[in-house]
Amino acid sequence: MVNFTKSNYARGSVLVRRQKKRQGSNMVTRLHMRRRRRTKIIATLGPSSSTVEVLRRLHQAGADVFRLNFSHGSHEDHAARIALIRELENEMGRPIGILGDVQGPKLRVGKFGGGRVHLQTGQTFRLDLNPTPGDVNRVQLPHPEIIRAATIGTSLLLDDGKLRLRVDKQREDHLECEVMVGGSLSDRKGVNVPDVILPIPALTPKDRLDLAFALEMGLDYIGLSFVQRAEDVAEAREIIAGRAWVMTKIEKPQALDNLDAILDLSDAVMVARGDLGVELPPEEVPLAQKRIVRAARSRGLPVVVATQMLESMITAPAPTRAEASDVATAVFDGTDAVMLSAETAAGQFPYEAVNIMDRIIARVEQDEGWRTLMDSGRFAPTPSTADAMATAARQVAHTIGAKVICALTSSGSTARRVARERPDAPILCLTPEHEVARRLALVWGVHAVVTADSHSMTEAVAKAIRIAHREGFAKFGEEIVVIAGIPFGQPGTTNALRVAIVK
Ligand code: PEP
Repeated sequence: MVNFTKSNYARGSVLVRRQKKRQGSNMVTRLHMRRRRRTKIIATLGPSSSTVEVLRRLHQAGADVFRLNFSHGSHEDHAARIALIRELENEMGRPIGILGDVQGPKLRVGKFGGGRVHLQTGQTFRLDLNPTPGDVNRVQLPHPEIIRAATIGTSLLLDDGKLRLRVDKQREDHLECEVMVGGSLSDRKGVNVPDVILPIPALTPKDRLDLAFALEMGLDYIGLSFVQRAEDVAEAREIIAGRAWVMTKIEKPQALDNLDAILDLSDAVMVARGDLGVELPPEEVPLAQKRIVRAARSRGLPVVVATQMLESMITAPAPTRAEASDVATAVFDGTDAVMLSAETAAGQFPYEAVNIMDRIIARVEQDEGWRTLMDSGRFAPTPSTADAMATAARQVAHTIGAKVICALTSSGSTARRVARERPDAPILCLTPEHEVARRLALVWGVHAVVTADSHSMTEAVAKAIRIAHREGFAKFGEEIVVIAGIPFGQPGTTNALRVAIVK
């Protein structure tokens, strides 16, 4: 016997149902939690977020996916966090996605004698292969391929673009540069070379080790950094072999030049505005963001807008108004997810950052203008049965005011095609696969529930009604739309649509 001990109540923008279920003589309480927004939130973990209590609070505040940044921390640290997330997932009864973001070929200068130097604008500075500590005249650049690929006039950006050098002379083992914009430069600071396609693979030896670890730990998505060409994605894809979604980070101008070919090989994409913003002039970044989001949405690829979204909240309990607007813009653009980096990894106000992001998203999604944009920005279906069914499900749900579109899917692809429609009804995905449910944690509007496969349409519809009601999507007397593939259990066969009443 199932009965709900309390009516629905809201916790932030989360709807929670407390269900008491009698099992023999023991009464067990289960929480059924669902978000009341479509756009998802990714929270990066770090020193500010490494206990189960913190993770629980971040999840309850709104984090749907956690990101592990392999640029920092040991495998031991990451394994401990992964175990905590899986424990939390168990406790909450909700699938939680984990993104493993591999560092990629981030270029860095070597070390200095005193740890730091100050470079004057107009002076000469040499980058060479000599590992001895640098000084005000030179420092190591331990990347011979960059020294070879640079030409006279090539710009080198140091420390996230704070300093700028221009190559004046190129030799076999060093570059002689003029300092165009000076400043303080310390050990191991990053180097960006925006004008040159770098002759380096996207996966370093460290990335290969991190990738093997991430796959062994069963992470749901792998973030690929500093991709320049489709071949970079193809190489990673071959290693990953379907064990996780490949999320390509667009952070190089060269990746923008090759965007279509890169997206063709990706399962998801991230607008990585940190490094992209170093390599592109600031006025180009918003346009690149809109272009990437639209290109991804037209393909039905989940897209994430990342970096500096609530940057001031690293040290302040409230965002600037411009930051609130930045999050809202991404939501109005119909992005699948927005991401927090240092705000939750190392900031002083991690819950507040997730909470305000959740509130901004929920508020935008209540706006009529947002719904108008979702409708006017919709992409035409591709000539496939899957898209025909997704469009029909959205249309039928809209016409009759159905409370939810319930997609029964083993691979998750049907739910993704429905999400591509940006329907006004939420999407309830029923899948027998845990990995699929976790991956869908990233996808716009999808609430995934793991449940056994059905054997007939009658059974599928009964199950959809039961779960839609239990998860708080539809009340007695309300209508739901169900789409499924017959025969059941065979991926890629979505071909049946039913309207059902909850009773
Ligand atoms: C970025 O550059 O925006 C990004 C997300 O990558 P990382 O945080 O690894 O620099």
